[in-house]
Amino acid sequence: MSSVTHIPLTHETVLRRHAQLISDSYFLGLEVGHGWLSLVERMLSDLEQLVEPGHEAIKVTDIKSKAGELHVSLEYYSDKIDEIIEKFEAEALKTCEFCGQPGRPRGPGWPITLCDEHAASEGRG
Ligand SMILES: [Zn+2]
Repeated sequence: MSSVTHIPLTHETVLRRHAQLISDSYFLGLEVGHGWLSLVERMLSDLEQLVEPGHEAIKVTDIKSKAGELHVSLEYYSDKIDEIIEKFEAEALKTCEFCGQPGRPRGPGWPITLCDEHAASEGRG
């Protein structure tokens, strides 16, 4: 038996781990499904690599899902920050927001990015 206990990521854990990246004056929230938490976690880890002493801090103000897309807002942007965020926004469009399996945006109406299984259980094509 493995000695490593698998602890599922929670929204709280992700925010606590990357507290230095979260705006303390203006943070709207982390509003995505559990399927996207691991990619948000990886995105914040990559952003953290950009933080160097003496440089402007990275302050995230909002992480949310909207119409099947991941949207990330910050107090300041740079080309390197944009590059990382765009990479994970593209990954989110191919990741089920419920479970993290491969997926795509599904209607009808306001899209949600879902795998085949969750599209079926949600009554979406
Ligand atoms: Zn799914």
